[in-house]
Amino acid sequence: MMTHLKSMTVPEIAGVLKELNQPAFRAKQLFSWLHKGAASYDEMTNLPLSLRTALAQKYPLYTPQVLRKQQSQKDGTVKYLWQLEDGNCVETVLMRYHYGNSVCISTEVGCKMGCAFCASTLGGFVRQLQPHEMLDQVLHTQLDSGLPISHIVLMGIGEPLDNYDNVMRFLELVNDPEGMNISMRHISLSTCGIVPMIDVLAEKKLQLTLSVSLHAPSDEVRNTIMPVNKAYPTEQLLEACRRYYKKTGRRISFEYAMINGVNDTVESAQLLIKRLKGLSAHVNLIPLNHVEESPLKPSTKQNVARFQQLLEAAGIPATVRRSLGGDIDASCGQLRRKYTKS
Ligand code: SAH
Repeated sequence: MMTHLKSMTVPEIAGVLKELNQPAFRAKQLFSWLHKGAASYDEMTNLPLSLRTALAQKYPLYTPQVLRKQQSQKDGTVKYLWQLEDGNCVETVLMRYHYGNSVCISTEVGCKMGCAFCASTLGGFVRQLQPHEMLDQVLHTQLDSGLPISHIVLMGIGEPLDNYDNVMRFLELVNDPEGMNISMRHISLSTCGIVPMIDVLAEKKLQLTLSVSLHAPSDEVRNTIMPVNKAYPTEQLLEACRRYYKKTGRRISFEYAMINGVNDTVESAQLLIKRLKGLSAHVNLIPLNHVEESPLKPSTKQNVARFQQLLEAAGIPATVRRSLGGDIDASCGQLRRKYTKS
């Protein structure tokens, strides 16, 4: 049961309004105001004053505050650090592409997953985000920047499949034609590989893109950089990906952060090719973003290019992700980490 109006669907809001003796048609009006980012009930001039007063008492509105904002001088990428209602903070990155404006949002405050290369996990896990807290990242980035957001990636702080119910509700809300109306086909959900939840997600047959953070072709390597691999080894993960593709017909995108001397060798590429056989996959090669606290370093340009060529030659589409916002700590968790440490 959602307790924030902005985390509720239109029928749920209608239920709230019924208790306040209000007609059901007001639910759409209220939903639409909330999802336009109304900061106060006073703005909702098509609702009766008595209702606005009652709602303000029972469901106070909160607008996330911008704690920090960094703008890349190179590529227009903007990074926001938002303060949430309980004082916690999360980050969102706005990226501008030729196909539209995309936001990378956080799904949790901190992260439990412990990946060796990731800044989000360093301070530990605090809590899951509520649906409206994910929605507000999209909405308020759009309002603050004045740029219409058309694409969303769930690749910020946190593990979306560790916050499954709230993430599913967020997707429903952000997809609602009465709200932000962002198409599922423009949404990517990234997971470190929580196998049982990949199967649960497959059942929903959503049109979104599933990204799997693979980062290594074998348990031997993956165990050293991703603790989740001990619970769900690569064999199980790739089997779940096969089931996911079979169920949804959606091609899976594999994330592969290129780490110098760890996973960027010719042998790694050959093993990866072998293991992705028969899977309709796309591999995203991401030169590692160096995190201050970590000894891991990015692969050289030459090694990234060699790796890509090997995959492509074997018929596996592979792209090297253009790294945006390198000058503003845009890799997930870096800004929050700096802020909470200082
Ligand atoms: N928990 C989810 C989503 C958040 S991380 C997941 O693991 O997929 C989003 C992506 O950024 C993941 O692929 C993650 O492995 C990657 N990532 C994290 N830290 C990185 C770094 N320092 N350099 C490059 N990619 C990184």
